[in-house]
Amino acid sequence: MSLTAYRRMTQVAFLLLIFLMPVLNIFRYDTATRELIIFGQVWSLGLNNAFYADHSLRGTGHVVLQFFLKAILPWIVVLAIFPLLGVFTGRFFCGWFCPEGTLFELADHLTLKLIGRRSLFAKRPNDPDASHKRKLLYVLVALLSLLVLPLLGGIALTGYLVAPRTIWSQIMSWNFTFGVKAGIIGVSLYMLITSILVRHSLCKYICAAGLMQMLFGWASPISLRVRMDPSRAEECTNCRGCEKACFMNVLPRMNKRDISCVNCGACVVACHRELGKGRGLFRYQAGEKASLAASERVNSESAGHSCSKPVRPVRT
Ligand code: SF4
Ligand code: SF4
Repeated sequence: MSLTAYRRMTQVAFLLLIFLMPVLNIFRYDTATRELIIFGQVWSLGLNNAFYADHSLRGTGHVVLQFFLKAILPWIVVLAIFPLLGVFTGRFFCGWFCPEGTLFELADHLTLKLIGRRSLFAKRPNDPDASHKRKLLYVLVALLSLLVLPLLGGIALTGYLVAPRTIWSQIMSWNFTFGVKAGIIGVSLYMLITSILVRHSLCKYICAAGLMQMLFGWASPISLRVRMDPSRAEECTNCRGCEKACFMNVLPRMNKRDISCVNCGACVVACHRELGKGRGLFRYQAGEKASLAASERVNSESAGHSCSKPVRPVRT
């Protein structure tokens, strides 16, 4: 199976997980009962009034320990997830799991098929060539996606605050409380606007999870990165497939520590396609050891996207 197939599978699986977590009671907060539910259990401090009434050293110690374990520690773990992901995997989560990234890639793909470029606003030098075949089909898919996906997202994400059973019964009776209506409409509008107008700018400049991975990944000497093999730079045919595959507008051949790179591997796949399976010039590596041996020269034409000769990577 190809890298792209693996990536699509992880993206769809994670999207489904996010949508189904409240339904399966894996994680949700019920605003009606004010209970946090984790794996079907109500998450509580495990303290009853008798514990609070016990002012002995043992009783106080028990309250403090329970509070640390059940209230503070989980937050520390949650807050540490994205910095740790950044340190070890760079922005791998963004490229392989993030549901918003998945939707933005779908929006890019449909826009490319419909108007010949990824962005609604302007054509970019790295936009892939688009075929004009089956345009009607793509129009239908785009319309369906615009109608269904935000609505589904709205219903699913509202389930994190209102019991999914309650939402479902309100949908069936078409009689909504203000909270459910506001949740579904609010999330749907957010998804619609970000998928149509904002897309990867949100990943680059707004998303807190992305920014944490970006920052820690950039600073980390061991984080996962996609690198071009500088010793084989002469084999590059300058097809620009790697640049066109990059929806984050990175120039992969520059071998720079680019904070926008989400380690998606699209450039890896593109180069294998051009040079033959197993012959591609890019690979995943931890840190930048190999690229320290990169060639001295920078092909200035690379930055201009218009070179006719193979490009050499930059020393980083
Ligand atoms: S440089 Fe390669 S791995 Fe990084 S975002 Fe672009 S296509 Fe994905
Ligand atoms: S690095 Fe690979 S994909 Fe990129 S231009 Fe060269 S041959 Fe093409």
